[in-house]
Amino acid sequence: MQNICILGATGSIGQSTLDVVLRHPSEYRVFALTAHSQIDKLIEQARLCQPKYLVLSDDANYHEAKQALLTSGIKTELLSGAQALADVASADEVDVVMAAIVGGAGLLPTIAAVKAGKKVLLANKESLVMSGELFIHAAKEHSASILPIDSEHNAIFQCLPSDFQYGDLSASGISSILLTGSGGPFRETPLNKLSDMTPAEACAHPNWDMGRKISVDSATMMNKGLEFIEARWLFGLQSSDIKVVLHPQSIIHSMVQYCDGSVLAQMGNPDMRTPIAHGLAFPKRIDSGVKPLDFQTIGQFSFGEPEPARYPNLYLAIEASNAGQYATTALNAANEVAVAAFLDGQIGFTQISQVNQECLAQMAGCQLNDIEAVVAWDHECRSQAQQIVSSYSREAS
Ligand code: NAD
Ligand code: MG
Repeated sequence: MQNICILGATGSIGQSTLDVVLRHPSEYRVFALTAHSQIDKLIEQARLCQPKYLVLSDDANYHEAKQALLTSGIKTELLSGAQALADVASADEVDVVMAAIVGGAGLLPTIAAVKAGKKVLLANKESLVMSGELFIHAAKEHSASILPIDSEHNAIFQCLPSDFQYGDLSASGISSILLTGSGGPFRETPLNKLSDMTPAEACAHPNWDMGRKISVDSATMMNKGLEFIEARWLFGLQSSDIKVVLHPQSIIHSMVQYCDGSVLAQMGNPDMRTPIAHGLAFPKRIDSGVKPLDFQTIGQFSFGEPEPARYPNLYLAIEASNAGQYATTALNAANEVAVAAFLDGQIGFTQISQVNQECLAQMAGCQLNDIEAVVAWDHECRSQAQQIVSSYSREAS
């Protein structure tokens, strides 16, 4: 029996995780569920799995949740605040932590799980993008196992040999890593119409049902950029080891190309319960509830190259990953601010990459030697990005 803590339980990944876990009641027990503000959803989830703890990241929601919990009659302890998140992620009773908070808010609880040597199912790519080497070093030092949940990285992990040595592609005869991406909802939108695209259109992903932030990131392909950086850290890759391939059907989740001409691909329906089940049970396989892939009905596979003019964020991220940690942390911070401003109607769709580019150009290089320095730099970059957003909003009015 494995005890699991689900950080970000009420989100898209959190709900899919609970769905898989509840299919295997004799294998997994839920120890804690965390959420930001969706109290009703959190209590509904608690009714299904009877966790020991519920945690709200925001103290301001505590009293309302306490009342709702009393009314529900569910016996579970309610906690709140940043320390409580880190505490449940690192508690002795916990074996597995699903890191599924969105954005930089996931950094500290995910790092707490890593430093406690947990098996960490990593969906929160932003934490790795922000802290890269520190994160990987902490995992080694504390013997945490990091299992990639992002579908592309989970696919790559499945296609690598089991004796793969971190950073050593040639020892395994690997020539490149093919990171696939659908190109999002605006893959065929005329370039001169992109600036008119609304938050609702950006969030309507053709294949995946996801949270709003990652949906916008998919439309700009910043998501693929963050995944490029994530892949470098997870597998120890150079920029030149990775090729980004457009694959609009999202059936191939990524591939590994070998020097003998073989290409191994991991395929499946676009449903995150597959990588979640894989990470949970690794090295075993368990039922995830995902429909089997039916090759008779897929039709065609197609492939292409992402155009720089359509997806400037992807290329900014690749540049940042070559520049170093300060740049990827800055880019992630700017992007979170820009995406929130876009979702809030303050800036247009194409201004997201402009904010990112300006912020990156303005934030000079610095060393980030510990997590405290990462957090401080992240705050600095967010306030710079906020100023850029305000200057755009003023220009528009
Ligand atoms: P979501 O918006 O649906 O859910 C986010 C979760 O984080 C919610 O439970 C929310 O309560 C919590 N949260 C939000 N702000 C918080 C804060 N300030 N402090 C603490 N908790 C907070 O997001 P999602 O789509 O489930 O994505 C979660 C993570 O997984 C992201 O990092 C995303 O990039 C990654 N991911 C998602 C998918 C997907 O299919 N949704 C695929 C790959 C990777
Ligand atoms: Mg992905």
